[in-house]
Amino acid sequence: MIGTMRSLHEVDPATEQFVQQEQQRQETSFMMIPSENSTSRAVMQACGSTLINKYAEGYPAKRYYEGNAVVDAVENLAIERAKKLFGAEHVNVQPYSGSPANLEVYYAVLKPGDKILGMQLNMGGHLTHGHGVNFSAKFYKAAQYVVDPKTHLLDMDAIRKLAHQEKPNIIVSGATAYPRIIDFKQFHEIAEEVGAYSFADISHIAGLIAGGAHPSPFPFTDLVMTTTHKTLRGPRGAMIMCKKLDRLAKTEGMDEKQAAKEKDLAGKVDRAVFPALQGGPHENIIAGKAVAFHEALQPEFKEYAHQIVKNAKALAAELMSHGVKLVTDGTDNHLLLIDLTPTMGIGMGKPVAAALADIGLIMNYNTVPYDQAKPFNPSGIRLGTPGLTTRGMKEKEMKDIGHWMAQVIKEPKNDEIKQQLRKEVLEMTKQFPLYG
Ligand SMILES: *Cc1c(COP(=O)(O)O)cnc(C)c1O
Repeated sequence: MIGTMRSLHEVDPATEQFVQQEQQRQETSFMMIPSENSTSRAVMQACGSTLINKYAEGYPAKRYYEGNAVVDAVENLAIERAKKLFGAEHVNVQPYSGSPANLEVYYAVLKPGDKILGMQLNMGGHLTHGHGVNFSAKFYKAAQYVVDPKTHLLDMDAIRKLAHQEKPNIIVSGATAYPRIIDFKQFHEIAEEVGAYSFADISHIAGLIAGGAHPSPFPFTDLVMTTTHKTLRGPRGAMIMCKKLDRLAKTEGMDEKQAAKEKDLAGKVDRAVFPALQGGPHENIIAGKAVAFHEALQPEFKEYAHQIVKNAKALAAELMSHGVKLVTDGTDNHLLLIDLTPTMGIGMGKPVAAALADIGLIMNYNTVPYDQAKPFNPSGIRLGTPGLTTRGMKEKEMKDIGHWMAQVIKEPKNDEIKQQLRKEVLEMTKQFPLYG
């Protein structure tokens, strides 16, 4: 038999074993990292299809290779569904992942040395929003906003004041560890006041927005980026959405053709993705995105999105009833941030997250705002409900999980308790199978 026809089992038992082990791990534990989720079998089938073999540099009907009629149809389908899902004017579904997509957004509208205003990493922002070690602070100047020292909420008046002082060229909204509603409208108004582009990075909450469970940055925000693999529940990847026209285009002294190009925000984004920063798009993943958007357009997805929030609120209430401190004392979205400082002292995020993993609840240690500990040994734990909600779990299960968590948080080294709770978690995973 020729190589293309042989199965993984026949070709490479070593890798096959890891694939099976990972599936087993996912079935028998609960995915509570808020940026993770379980895609459907349908999405995985599209991603594992022969579309993986095709080179398609360029865009539908403007490719640099032959044989792209099917690929064009797939990419157009993904684009049309994304437009419908979010109400976007223009969509580019080619970005490989969230971080390169953010580079593409900056490249599209900024010159090297222009200024980005974004949320500070240890307050809940992302590396690509202007953190010192990241390209976003190396090719560009970066200014950073923080959360209020008392409430740990975004203080829009303070952000407005900072924007007027710093005069950034782009203002980034969106976060990786912020448990409350983000006021995209005000972010856009501030950007208008200071002559900056508004840019919403909705990676974490895109599924909530698509399902109507969080306010949308559309139609006013200039540029929107989202990963497709978090609450949106598609394959690992990203997309950029934007207005067709560039609100800030400067066209004095240009001929008509040049001016039209300058005003074409959609064209700037597309040229930034290809040919500026990417080569051939991953059309198998784009097919997976098309499937995920189709799923997100169904009525059940609205239920899922609202259930994520209900579950997060139920879990928050249960944890707080056991004296667990949450940043902002609750949540509006899919995410909870536990601050262990008041109960356990500083720098306890890592050992407590490890103890929770011992019973099969998988989360990540994280800084809390104004953390007194170092980032590699911070005082918080970040968790969320997208993965649990995808399994079909509801408020009742959140109450159990919150109770189990509280016991481990109180006594992370008590092996007897952990052994008992591991059994309970395992039993519950069997009631909510993932892939059967
Ligand atoms: C996850 C995330 C990214 C980066 O996505 P990757 O696909 O991991 O590169 C960017 N911004 C925000 C807000 C995110 O949550």
